[in-house]
Amino acid sequence: MPRSRIHFVLHMPCTQSRTDLNSPAKRTRLILPICVQVAAQRKLLRCGVCDARQKDCIITKCWHLFCQQCIQKNLETRHRKCPGCGAAFGAADVKQVYLA
Ligand SMILES: [Zn+2]
Ligand SMILES: [Zn+2]
Repeated sequence: MPRSRIHFVLHMPCTQSRTDLNSPAKRTRLILPICVQVAAQRKLLRCGVCDARQKDCIITKCWHLFCQQCIQKNLETRHRKCPGCGAAFGAADVKQVYLA
């Protein structure tokens, strides 16, 4: 098992009972599905336009979430259509969201 993988696994925020983690083989079997789940959840929180930054702005016309930079760019180019569904929106329809 490559060292980097172990490193990654040990830093996952929510692992199952640590008593099951004594053998590397068991660790792989137990933790990898959790890693996949976490990756899927993280992807869900990433902006669908740039796929890099966290979603932190919402378009209240259609309730789609994107990152502030992508929405800002959209507003500046006067394109002003939701990248997700094409609904027209203006600066007043954009609200910041806080994922606590
Ligand atoms: Zn973005
Ligand atoms: Zn939309």
